[in-house]
Amino acid sequence: MADKILLEVVTPEKTLLKEMVDIVVAPGEEGEFGVLPNHIPFLSKLKVGELRFRIGANTRFIAIMGGFAEVLPDHVTILATAAEEATQIDVVRAKAARERAERRLREARDRYEFATAQAALQRAIARLRTAERR
Ligand code: ATP
Repeated sequence: MADKILLEVVTPEKTLLKEMVDIVVAPGEEGEFGVLPNHIPFLSKLKVGELRFRIGANTRFIAIMGGFAEVLPDHVTILATAAEEATQIDVVRAKAARERAERRLREARDRYEFATAQAALQRAIARLRTAERR
């Protein structure tokens, strides 16, 4: 029986994180889910939001821009479109992205422009929320 989980967070650019953790909580498309060691295997799509994990008494936070999670009894792999740990988030950039997205939402001429602006706004909001955790 495992008493820790190997958490890997991978983006198209790099492996953001590979650490032994006690618990993972991820933003599943059907709602947030928590994983402790020896969880039954499953796959889940992830929405834009926040992933958190605990090592001992220390909880850390990662902004996740959507992706997939594969859960095994001793291993959780997160394949994220993009992801940043709270401490790595550039708040000035995220605020600028939020303002740009809000302007694009107001000025959108069709459903496509509206949807892409809405997605950009969600990413910026997720980054700003996670950045507040540090
Ligand atoms: P922006 O308009 O500022 O580029 P975006 O939502 O379009 O934001 P993404 O396409 O999600 O950006 O990410 C592109 C790359 O930039 C990824 O590597 C992502 O980790 C990084 N990134 C985006 N915004 C930030 C931020 N505020 N702080 C740190 N890294 C960021």
